[in-house]
Amino acid sequence: LVEFDQVVKRYGDHVVLDNLDFTVERGQHVTLIGPSGSGKTTILRLLMTLERVSDGVIRVGGEPFSHVLGADGKLKPAGEKHQRQIRKKIGMVFQQFNLFPNMNVLQNITEAPVNVLGVDRAEAEERARELLELVGLREKVTAHPTQLSGGQQQRVAIARALAMRPEILLLDEVTSALDPELVAGVLDVLRNIAHTTDITMLCVTHEMSFARDISDTVLMFDAGRVVESGSPEQIFTEPAHERTRGFLSAVL
Ligand code: ATP
Repeated sequence: LVEFDQVVKRYGDHVVLDNLDFTVERGQHVTLIGPSGSGKTTILRLLMTLERVSDGVIRVGGEPFSHVLGADGKLKPAGEKHQRQIRKKIGMVFQQFNLFPNMNVLQNITEAPVNVLGVDRAEAEERARELLELVGLREKVTAHPTQLSGGQQQRVAIARALAMRPEILLLDEVTSALDPELVAGVLDVLRNIAHTTDITMLCVTHEMSFARDISDTVLMFDAGRVVESGSPEQIFTEPAHERTRGFLSAVL
């Protein structure tokens, strides 16, 4: 469903992603781990079109995403419109929840489906209530973001992302900004989504036990490359690479 083909991302002389190749199959849950600065967040930012590749091609659903196929059969860098069209398949939850502060919970969740996808308001509200049930916040429909804890706000942000019915959910260190006692509730919600829906997930996390629980595949990054990939069992119990062993012994 998502394919990085020899992707390079540079800022000036600084190579952040170095001929990166990896694929995420439909329905898979893939977790990116690795030291700070190894390029994990950059991968998600490329998929959100917040950044552009310096070289190589990203494909989503088999179609070029970073590029379009020209009449001459050659790939050329994609315009905004092409990327926006494909980006509709992708939902993202960030470290900072960024809820709309002037809207209540229901309005936060229905805003984009109604105004971007053109979903009928009553239908969007019904779906929003189902999603609030899924994230354990059914009773907070009319609350405003300031009346919610950080963990509750993040759960609303997860519901808001799912309201767009994305095929792929990107999660970028979604618990890093939370007080420690609120982390478990958010991770439980994500575990539940991972186990009960068929959504494809690509997540960057420092929560190794969570990565272990939800991942089909773990990719260990270092210096803009995948140094090792495998099942959580393999990566966490029998890492093959010295860099993975060093990283895990520092964080576990
Ligand atoms: P962390 O776990 O700390 O979030 P990460 O693995 O997600 O790290 P990235 O955020 O992808 O790493 O950053 C990779 C590298 O790219 C870092 O060295 C960072 O300084 C650099 N970088 C990111 N954005 C820019 C930018 N806009 N301009 C220049 N360098 C950047």
